[in-house]
Amino acid sequence: MEVARLNLCAPLPIVDEEPILDSMLGWLARWLRMLGIHAIYSPSFNDESLLSINHLLITRDRELFRKRSLPTLLLETSIHEEWLSISSLILGTQLVINMDRSLCPICGSKLVKVGREAVVSKVPRSVLLRHDSFWLCTGCGKVYWVGSHHMRIGKELEIARYILSRLKASCVGNNLLIIRNN
Ligand SMILES: [Zn+2]
Repeated sequence: MEVARLNLCAPLPIVDEEPILDSMLGWLARWLRMLGIHAIYSPSFNDESLLSINHLLITRDRELFRKRSLPTLLLETSIHEEWLSISSLILGTQLVINMDRSLCPICGSKLVKVGREAVVSKVPRSVLLRHDSFWLCTGCGKVYWVGSHHMRIGKELEIARYILSRLKASCVGNNLLIIRNN
């Protein structure tokens, strides 16, 4: 089953430090940032600006895909974990979290590792007592730590890695089709 299509037939991965995500892909932007990809996302991008941005565009919009002559990946599936697997295949991203490489999922800025004393006023006391490493966003100031939610993140990535193992990419005409084997 075809799950995605790239408008060029190039060897993978496609190297792009700053892929652009359309307004329907906020979920994917947050995950790619957690994986260390500087994903550019704004819910207010309009089609006109997206047509001319010279970066890989990842989109759910067929019309936009049809009109773009610059590198564009059309996600045809609505399954979120498949979005992650396909992006990993195209961008060559490892589906593992390394907090020292992660970017802020909210704003995309760099995170810096800090000790407990730097976040005393920013996190609940119960969290402070249980953890001694924290990561502070240099953009929006949000604080992150490796807590119980990382179990859920790990499970999601396990699903995405399984899907990735079943994806195949092949050139058809000028497009690269991405197929999932059932
Ligand atoms: Zn941030």
